[in-house]
Amino acid sequence: MKTASKDISAMTLVKEALTKAHQYQEQYHIFNYFNDTEAIRKAAEIDERIKRGENVGRLAGVPYALKDNFLSPEGETTASAHILEGFTSPVTATAVKRLEDEGAIMIGRTNLDAFAHGSSTENSYYGPTKNSKDLERVAGGSSGGSAVAVALGIVPFATGTDTGGSIRQPASFNGVYGLKPTYGTISRYGVVAMASSTDCVGFFTENPEDMDLLMKVTAGQDPNDMTTLPDFYDREEKFDDPIKKIGVIKDFDNEAVSPEIRTCLSREIEKLKAAGHEIVELNMPALKYALAAYYIITPAEVASNLSRHDGVRYGFRSENVQTLDELYNNTRNEGFMPENKRRIMIGNFVLSAGFYDAYYLKAAKARTLIIQEYAQAFEKCDLILTPVSPNPAFKLGEKVDNPVAMYLEDMMSVSLNLAGLPGLAIPVGETTNGLSLGLQLVGPRRSDQELINFAKRMRGDHESAEDEHVDLMGGND
Ligand code: GLN
Repeated sequence: MKTASKDISAMTLVKEALTKAHQYQEQYHIFNYFNDTEAIRKAAEIDERIKRGENVGRLAGVPYALKDNFLSPEGETTASAHILEGFTSPVTATAVKRLEDEGAIMIGRTNLDAFAHGSSTENSYYGPTKNSKDLERVAGGSSGGSAVAVALGIVPFATGTDTGGSIRQPASFNGVYGLKPTYGTISRYGVVAMASSTDCVGFFTENPEDMDLLMKVTAGQDPNDMTTLPDFYDREEKFDDPIKKIGVIKDFDNEAVSPEIRTCLSREIEKLKAAGHEIVELNMPALKYALAAYYIITPAEVASNLSRHDGVRYGFRSENVQTLDELYNNTRNEGFMPENKRRIMIGNFVLSAGFYDAYYLKAAKARTLIIQEYAQAFEKCDLILTPVSPNPAFKLGEKVDNPVAMYLEDMMSVSLNLAGLPGLAIPVGETTNGLSLGLQLVGPRRSDQELINFAKRMRGDHESAEDEHVDLMGGND
């Protein structure tokens, strides 16, 4: 990505990004908030420091888009939910701080499904974001705004969160790279919690090189998030044999997956074989429980995390109330989206006395089976290549009234979150009608950098010499 220097000012980079952001907003509805004044002030400051010959950081003057569930005092943090409207955070998320310490400049906050519940960005209180390739289709979700901001070339990178696929799925719906790191790699401090045992912070980029840089900047332990891992990114001993054993999950090869996605996977497998890699077929029967387990475990955590929104502490408060109970009830009733309420109710139900054993406990056991199954798989292969989702981007409105159909879109993404594994969505082509197709590379815990390196190599092996040249010249914007 382009950073500010003596040759190109931060002001130019930031103004270009802001102009594009405003231009595309009406059609695509990407942003919840534009940070013009602050962004321009920061750009001027960086340019001043460059003039003085100071070290301005690895992301000097790089404009970026922030998913609207990261806390910072710049703009309201709404998580696209009415109940947080009017809430300006006194704290800054660790990830935001680390990016900005290196000179990155936030130009706007991006739209998402309210509280990151969804796979299409249609559950946003502010309305859906449109797909970058087709205005009648969904952007994917929940980080739809961030994916589209990068896909349209507004910014070279955007932040996302991935609890069950919310980075990888919109990345693949819009033809960009999206990384869900190993659980605990980047601090969750200052990120609106969805399901704390699977929430991960990650990024959207145009290429794997930028992803690597962002990981170097943000990964690592944080005293404010006790689940962060001791720094491993860029430090683990690397397995440098370029030839890999690549696992393919046979259980995903079925009619629930669209023919175009299956063809796309087979084509990539053939290319990998031609490049000398070995393909290993995997049978992973426990993965069929992943979706059900995910939609029990995460609502349980959602119900707990969202109970803090009571109309007293943050954002919106219902006006027409006489009693404290009415204050809670009316605020929640008016402030949460239907999907938020559905998850709160499911979560409380599966945890309640009498149902805990039948639902939550069973789901927790299924989770353990899935973790074990992945561990066994990685004894047979170095990494796994699978689709991200069973279909390319679907039509706006197509699934919004059918929660189960929407949940089924997540069947190939959620198991990684349950197991804490890293997954990198990579763009691999287009459907016959021009929609983006993506696949994901999955590795053992802490193999994040290897996945990124492998994606670089795949690009090198597959792309024309000309495209590769453009990339080496620093992005294709
Ligand atoms: N689509 C999934 C869900 O609705 C994932 C959401 C996410 O990763 N935030 O739960």
